[in-house]
Amino acid sequence: MKTAAGDSMSNQGEPPHVLLVEDNFVNQKVATVLLQRLGLKVKITSNGREAVEAVSNQKFDLILMDCHMPVMDGFEATVAIREIEARTNAYSPIIAVTALAMSGDRERCIAAGMDDYLSKPIDIDLLKAKVAHWLRTEVVFESQKQRRKVLRPNSALTLVKSAPLDMAELEEFYEPEQLTDMMEMFLNDTQDMLGKVQKHMDEKNSKLVAALAHEIKASCASIGAKNLARLCLYLEQTACRHDWIEAEETATSIEREFSSLRDYIQSHLPQESTPA
Ligand code: MN
Repeated sequence: MKTAAGDSMSNQGEPPHVLLVEDNFVNQKVATVLLQRLGLKVKITSNGREAVEAVSNQKFDLILMDCHMPVMDGFEATVAIREIEARTNAYSPIIAVTALAMSGDRERCIAAGMDDYLSKPIDIDLLKAKVAHWLRTEVVFESQKQRRKVLRPNSALTLVKSAPLDMAELEEFYEPEQLTDMMEMFLNDTQDMLGKVQKHMDEKNSKLVAALAHEIKASCASIGAKNLARLCLYLEQTACRHDWIEAEETATSIEREFSSLRDYIQSHLPQESTPA
């Protein structure tokens, strides 16, 4: 039993087990939902060290590895995992999941021993294809649960252009509870990070502002909040070049955009008490 494929094929009925390594909680949630949709069992770890620990205790059919994480990044973790596997004669394919913002990342992924990569935000069709390829087994979408929510009749009229994200699209894709969970996590997390952005702006710490802006951008991109994602990208860039005047203005726009996004999300979330 050298390959993951051999294992998952012989384990009829048992879903393939995926290890998700990701430090951004919103991305974690999104990826988990996507992987579960593909019928996979998911174990979540939030940094490379936890991932290495998980791999030394358990065999995974596939690993999705974020590259940039605190404590231990995805490159180091992959090297450590490959070392463990060399001793145990096991092998789990590792797919890097990254924004690949820096052009050297791809080479670093391969050099570290990863097998493939997916860019963020994760595209479900691409994920499905990669998962199928690396598990070498048919992955079927968990019968798409046709009970899609009926769209509010007038939503098309009121949202049109200015909607900060496409809630109807999200509602089609996620179960109401998943969506509520995810949005609450997004709002809390982002609120938190924005507080820190302000603090680090005051300190003119361009590294930390850029890192936070990058993180918020990633969360926004995974839920489809494009405007906010774009503003965060701009903040990241302005912080990197120490353009604090532009950065301050952008931060103000981000606060404004976030507050309208929050209002929008809160008024459009599926109501818990109201049956669909
Ligand atoms: Mn990360």
